Amino acid sequence: MKILVPVKRVIDYNVKVRVRPDGAGVDIANVRMSMNPFDEIAVEEAVRQKEAGVATEVIAVSAGVTQAQETLRTALAIGADRAILIESNEDLQPLAVAKLLKALIDREQPSLVILGKQAIHDDSNQTGQMLAALAGLPQATFASKVVVGDGMATVSREVDGGAETLSLKLPAVVTTDLRLNEPRYVTLPNIMKAKKKPLETLKPEDLGVDVSPRLKMLKVGEPPKRSAGVKVADVKTLAEKLKTEAKVL
Ligand code: AMP
Repeated sequence: MKILVPVKRVIDYNVKVRVRPDGAGVDIANVRMSMNPFDEIAVEEAVRQKEAGVATEVIAVSAGVTQAQETLRTALAIGADRAILIESNEDLQPLAVAKLLKALIDREQPSLVILGKQAIHDDSNQTGQMLAALAGLPQATFASKVVVGDGMATVSREVDGGAETLSLKLPAVVTTDLRLNEPRYVTLPNIMKAKKKPLETLKPEDLGVDVSPRLKMLKVGEPPKRSAGVKVADVKTLAEKLKTEAKVL
């Protein structure tokens, strides 16, 4: 069985994101980029399924600029077998990515697609859900455990009231939550091996998908600065302030 893992190149999670002075987005010039952390968890999960003998092939896919090749090489170093870059300089919004992935599902016929639950630079949290809808596949989002067998996936997910367990008929779409696993450290020998693994490049036109943006970003701004706290002399003053000044937001 094949597993398809979409991986996105995003601003590294250690970078302090800066809003561009013109408010037209965040500054990505000279900023360190890496694989979206939830996608690392997705690749790790797919590779573990292969190591357990459940999956036979893990295919990593990324849609974006040429440099997304580096993200794919990281996926190959974690253990994916081959990679596909869907190269585009467009601002690829979740619906466009979901359409591209749907076209790849038609071509590759994977039994499982494991995505991150969200890309950390804009927290859209939409692509997996849109993909499942477009492809007409069952979905389990925010997975904290995935067990695959007998044409089914059993997925545990954390919900407000506790843990929920879903049983899905394969093929299916799963999105990862932080607790699913801890991705392995990528070793130098595996980085070297990854350079020799196949990486195919396609264009959105090859998949017959129009990726032009449907949403227009109007403005991006810094969050409001938090005002400084105050020290109170005693509990009585605190209680008084809570009563008269504190607001429910
Ligand atoms: P989002 O809906 O943008 O928050 O992204 C959710 C997940 O969809 C990510 O964690 C990735 O697994 C996948 N994804 C989103 N955009 C891309 C992309 N350009 N290329 C590959 N995968 C993507």
